[in-house]
Amino acid sequence: MRYDALILGAGMSGLAAGIRLAQAGKRVAVLERHYLWGGLNSFYKRAGRRFETGLHALTNFVPKGTPNVPLTRILRQLRISHDALRLAPQRHSKSALRLSSDETLVLEYSNDPARMRASVERLFPAETAGFERMVAALPGYSDATEADRTTSARARLAEFVREPRLVELLMIAPLFYGSPTERDMSWAEYGILFRSIHLEGMARPEGGIKALLDLLIERFEAEGGELRMRNGVAAILHTHGRVTGVRLDDGTELECERVLSSAGLVETEALCGTPRANEDDPRIGRLSFVEVCCVLDRTPLELGHDTTIVFYSDSERFLYERPETPVEPRAGVITCPSNYLTSAPDPEPFVRVTCPANHGFWTSLDETRYAAEKVRAVDAMLAAAESFSFPIRPHILFRDSFTPRTIERFTGHRGGAVYGSPLKRRDGQTDLAGLELIGTDQGLVGVVGALLSGISIANRSVLAPSGGLS
Ligand SMILES: Cc1cc2nc3c(=O)[nH]c(=O)nc-3n(C[C@H](O)[C@H](O)[C@H](O)COP(=O)(O)OP(=O)(O)OC[C@H]3O[C@@H](n4cnc5c(N)ncnc54)[C@H](O)[C@@H]3O)c2cc1C
Repeated sequence: MRYDALILGAGMSGLAAGIRLAQAGKRVAVLERHYLWGGLNSFYKRAGRRFETGLHALTNFVPKGTPNVPLTRILRQLRISHDALRLAPQRHSKSALRLSSDETLVLEYSNDPARMRASVERLFPAETAGFERMVAALPGYSDATEADRTTSARARLAEFVREPRLVELLMIAPLFYGSPTERDMSWAEYGILFRSIHLEGMARPEGGIKALLDLLIERFEAEGGELRMRNGVAAILHTHGRVTGVRLDDGTELECERVLSSAGLVETEALCGTPRANEDDPRIGRLSFVEVCCVLDRTPLELGHDTTIVFYSDSERFLYERPETPVEPRAGVITCPSNYLTSAPDPEPFVRVTCPANHGFWTSLDETRYAAEKVRAVDAMLAAAESFSFPIRPHILFRDSFTPRTIERFTGHRGGAVYGSPLKRRDGQTDLAGLELIGTDQGLVGVVGALLSGISIANRSVLAPSGGLS
């Protein structure tokens, strides 16, 4: 039994690629090592409650019918209606930069870009014109030049904005929501992330990530695709430089014409027989996180906090990097799902706090020490987060957390690297004919980026050799 295509991973990119191939009448299976789909964006039950990983926000939010933007194109390609997603827009969000114990700069924004402009004007009136010029000069989603890909976003921002503290503020959310590199990113990546967060906007599907995943699985199966859970791929089989199939963890071999892999660059190479990369290989991403999810006894709004997402830096230099310490509570994201404008709130309110973490530390611990260190790290994170939001700890009914070790275990990404390798393969090509990369290491990150990646590589590789999204 031969497949036209086998897809490694039931994350966003794998499911999107699977839908496009199945729609084209291809015999396709998505192979997933775990018992739950979603990859970095998934859900699980603990103490009778459902928790989510990933998805603080669906970026690229636009109202239904907005033409020529990623969300509209993706939904059209996947044949999912905008209404079916039931997207609840954010109230408003902020980036906060603490300069001293009594001075914090706060940049506010919402799904109306005018709010951010007004906030820049309030904070730094002399920078308003430079900020406007910067926005006008941002590279688009598909017209970045080679120079844009090699130019530092910080350096380019500084050409428009003279105030270094505004440059820092403008880096916080784009770095947190998609940079595989520490401290800085390319101007091309900045253009994509700034547009998707600040010029389009943020929303959340009612019902959270599970609602979005249910839609994707439903589409995939309705188109005739085969979802094979607990079917980890132990090896990608090839001969004379061409893919021939895969070997599953249980030894079963499946034959195919093509493999699309969302496992990551070094991870996919290892499946092809390349020796396992060392921990310090520069192709392994360094950015991973500890996240805590706290179920609360009342909503953040009732506790006086009306912001959907706070991206914060508790130091004048934003510490977006792998810390030497287990976790870096001075840089974080505070997400309140009940602060989306929803008519169908979750059964219980919760807040999530996410901070950069050191993968090597978390993977070196025995079970007893791991549990104790998690408590210590999360306490420090919550203390820091409270100073940018509201008193969280007195209102916690239940909390659960995960670390880089959890991320690596459930996604297979080396280093627990949420945004994958700093070296992307934008064309998706590998050294083997018939093997292509999709998802994070093809270069598009986040939920929307991963969906787009799966769609465009599937379209190009099997449906329309010369084209991407139509
Ligand atoms: C804490 C956190 C918060 C985030 N917040 C947001 C957010 O607010 N907004 C946003 O847009 N994005 C967010 N993201 C990022 C987003 O989740 C990812 O960029 C996106 O989901 C990546 O999708 P993917 O398909 O590329 O890869 P993945 O989700 O990593 O999927 C890869 C899949 O492949 C499977 N796999 C790997 N190896 C094998 C193998 N050998 N055999 C079989 N299966 C295999 C894995 O188990 C996994 O399911 C967040 C991520 C995290 C961790």
